[in-house]
Amino acid sequence: MGKASVHWFRHGLRLHDNPALLESIMACEKFYAIFIVDEDETELMGYNRMQFLTESLRNLDAQLRALGGQLYVMKGEPTVIFKILHTEAGMSRLTLEQDCDATWDKHDKVVRRLCEELGVEVVEKMSNTLWEPSKIIEANGGEPPHSYEMFLQVTSTLGMPPRPSPNPEWEDVLFGELTDELATKLGLFPHVPTPEDLGYYPENNELAAFEGGETAALALLQKRLKLEEDAFRDGNILPNQVNPDILGPSLSMSAAIRFGCLSVRKFYWEIQEIYFRLHRGIPPPLHSLTAQLVWREFFYCMAANNPHYNEVSGNPLCIDIPWFRNSENYKAWEEGYTGYPFIDACMRQLRKEGWIHHVCRTAVACFLTRGDLWISWEEGLKVFMKYLIDADWAICSGNWMWVSASAFERQLDSTCCICPVSYGRKIEPTGEYIRRYVPELASLPQEYIHEPWLAPLDVQKASNCILGYNYPHRIVIHEEVSKENKKMMENIKHSLRTRSPHNNHCPSSVREPSLFLWVPQSFHRDTV
Ligand code: FAD
Repeated sequence: MGKASVHWFRHGLRLHDNPALLESIMACEKFYAIFIVDEDETELMGYNRMQFLTESLRNLDAQLRALGGQLYVMKGEPTVIFKILHTEAGMSRLTLEQDCDATWDKHDKVVRRLCEELGVEVVEKMSNTLWEPSKIIEANGGEPPHSYEMFLQVTSTLGMPPRPSPNPEWEDVLFGELTDELATKLGLFPHVPTPEDLGYYPENNELAAFEGGETAALALLQKRLKLEEDAFRDGNILPNQVNPDILGPSLSMSAAIRFGCLSVRKFYWEIQEIYFRLHRGIPPPLHSLTAQLVWREFFYCMAANNPHYNEVSGNPLCIDIPWFRNSENYKAWEEGYTGYPFIDACMRQLRKEGWIHHVCRTAVACFLTRGDLWISWEEGLKVFMKYLIDADWAICSGNWMWVSASAFERQLDSTCCICPVSYGRKIEPTGEYIRRYVPELASLPQEYIHEPWLAPLDVQKASNCILGYNYPHRIVIHEEVSKENKKMMENIKHSLRTRSPHNNHCPSSVREPSLFLWVPQSFHRDTV
């Protein structure tokens, strides 16, 4: 039995820019590529996300088979699997892409300890972020920079992010084969499983917005780069969040980046290079697409050492706002029956396609929390984590805290709150988006599509949409609840400011929004 190197695919489901994979295939006698179905991680997943994951695994398997190998997909406890691979397949080196989330670190510590005991070398490489969060924290004196502005200052001292690593050379790689006996011990799937093999079935006539896998991600990237190049050429450097097209097919790379089918460093550098080329070596300005990628870094960095980042309790970043509990309103929001057509269209698109535009995420998150229902962002996070294909522990939690004004520079920000009617109308005035996802409103005339409660009864009858019968009445009256909510925010802010400075719930960093706040909230300005 020769010395074998095992590459454990987790999030970085790609062959390009994969430094840990490069290390794995270098100077080993045998190489195995594996993926372990982790029940902790898959518990929360909806069908679309599971489908994206299994498609990504199938694509990796197909690429490895074309090179003479395969991807072994197994289900079980990683430490048990690694013990077997060590004793029965000669694993002497384990390589993996390091995950900076505090949740993964807990799992990985156990694996590291086992490998140390077994004398297995562990090689971990970070390639899921532009900069290593630990280096940013170190450069900031041991703490994550607490505002985006500070974050930009600190990262500017680190220089440009590393370029992607070279593609692997596969010519001399000898792929190991697992015997049938070993396959049984390892809980190996006979083929890459489908969502159904793993017990996931469609619930909402799902029709995923994206296809999983590196090949599809790289093809989508080419379309996205063309779009960006045309925009740069026209002098438009603003991210698509500023002029959103919520009707067209999405060219979002977020799902591909989330599963690592596309390297974020490749995306970043390809955009930089287009801009450099068109603007003779000048880098893109701060408020451009690459700035959006920096927001991603910011949230990762804030989450790095914070295992409670996805909850209020024990989370030093988050203010403990006394949210309401109202299971009926929560259910209406989740299922898209709030009586606010734009909000309902967004939630139904989310459940069906596993994706909604940033402006829609912002609208529904504000509606659930400080805007209308005054329900905790933790409840909204659960729904997003289930249905979004790109659901990411650090990014999703960070954005929910942001929109609900629970953390960061936005703490208890009561100055702006989204109106579900005028905001929706501003983003998509024709009502086509609502007609697509809320078919019971499809025949309502455009003037009422965002506010069906204003339609006279004869119009409702003629449109086959009687309020309270075909479509619900509004669960809350925005004009009233938003005023109340604003007052509650003001009161909490006031009481926290007047509390003892030693109280660690006191948001000492409450201050006016910084210059950079406009980036994710560019459409939040629709005040009531
Ligand atoms: P672009 O504008 O093209 O941005 C390029 C990339 O930058 C994105 O693909 C993404 O990787 C990153 N990015 C963009 N905006 C943000 C942001 N505000 N925060 C962090 N990274 C960003 N994005 C996720 O990838 N996963 C999530 O789970 C997620 N949850 C969210 C929850 C809420 C409540 C909100 C308001 C936003 C959330 N976002 C999340 C951020 C953002 O909405 C998506 O990244 C964006 O819609 C993806 O579309 P795009 O690729 O066209 O974005």
